[in-house]
Amino acid sequence: MTETVRKLEPETVERIAAGEVVTRPASVVKELIENSLDAGAESIRVEVDGDGTAMLKVADDGHGMSEADATLAVDHHTTSKLGESSDLERVSTLGFRGEALPSIAAVATLDVTTNDGGPRGTRVLVEGGETTTSPAGRATGTTVEVRDLFHNRPARRKSLSSTQAEFGRVSDVVSRYALLHPDVRFRLRHDGREVFSTPGSGSYTDAVLGVYDRTVAGQSTTFAHETAVSVDGDDHSLTVDGLLVYPSVTRSRRDHVHVAVNGRTVGNAGLKRAVVSGYGTLLPQGREPIAVVSVSLSPQLVDANVHPSKDEVAFLDGDAVESAVEEAVHEAVTTADLRQSGEVAM
Ligand code: ADP
Ligand code: MG
Repeated sequence: MTETVRKLEPETVERIAAGEVVTRPASVVKELIENSLDAGAESIRVEVDGDGTAMLKVADDGHGMSEADATLAVDHHTTSKLGESSDLERVSTLGFRGEALPSIAAVATLDVTTNDGGPRGTRVLVEGGETTTSPAGRATGTTVEVRDLFHNRPARRKSLSSTQAEFGRVSDVVSRYALLHPDVRFRLRHDGREVFSTPGSGSYTDAVLGVYDRTVAGQSTTFAHETAVSVDGDDHSLTVDGLLVYPSVTRSRRDHVHVAVNGRTVGNAGLKRAVVSGYGTLLPQGREPIAVVSVSLSPQLVDANVHPSKDEVAFLDGDAVESAVEEAVHEAVTTADLRQSGEVAM
């Protein structure tokens, strides 16, 4: 028997790529929220039925799309965000692959209604491989509704967890973006009921109040720290800001440490560890903090293109970034802690 190396059919490539970006309802919601943020939305509404496979929807008041753009957007590798390939080295938008909408359309019914400020809007419906475009009434902004997710991927569908667990993941994604983008108003509804909302006031404390509760928000301090990191002899400014909940309110797991790099929520374990190290010995043994930490630095120092889901970013100098985060957190937490316990006269 001889093995032959063959080039994959384009359709197979598409299915593989779609599988990487769209793994579960929460990953769809993440992509759609990132698109809304890239469109400059001030308000983002997320609605989910059940585990999200029957219906999930993200509506925004961003700049919307023209009819031509909306039709193009559901196609492969079409993006309004990357011009030349050199742009990849300094990505400032959350999206840039032009893969999310077509990947979703490959495994679900995709129903986009959008208006870029014209007298009327456009609806683009992709169902069973067919794309239909029609006029639609809508205020400026975009609504993306996804139905029957994984209807043609029985194995993927079967691999999903319980409704509660899948919705929990969706809720985590929305919470994380709401906390890290306090200037945007977020609302999450599940089976017709409001789960939480944030006011979009720009205050981290208000966002924490919306996502958590009064106890958590009341036991917290906001902070902002600016420093410089030196890479290849060049100094680049780096800011770390956010909110730290006092060590009097902790959790047993690290998933309440919310981190973003240039507005993108990331799962980077190293950054989370840096936040926890910043709390140092103030944290009771075996407990994890609740923290919202936003890191901003020159896009040239970040490579967001390390994974299709863009959940991880790589830094040109990860150690420098991590120590800056640790230092910022340590400074904020120790100052606040001393002030709270009255040991420092302010
Ligand atoms: P990417 O975000 O990587 O560019 P997507 O497939 O997610 O790729 O989206 C394709 C294009 O569709 C985007 O570049 C953008 O021009 C347009 N788009 C998608 N969602 C929205 C939205 N909510 N508002 C305005 N434009 C959008
Ligand atoms: Mg996108």
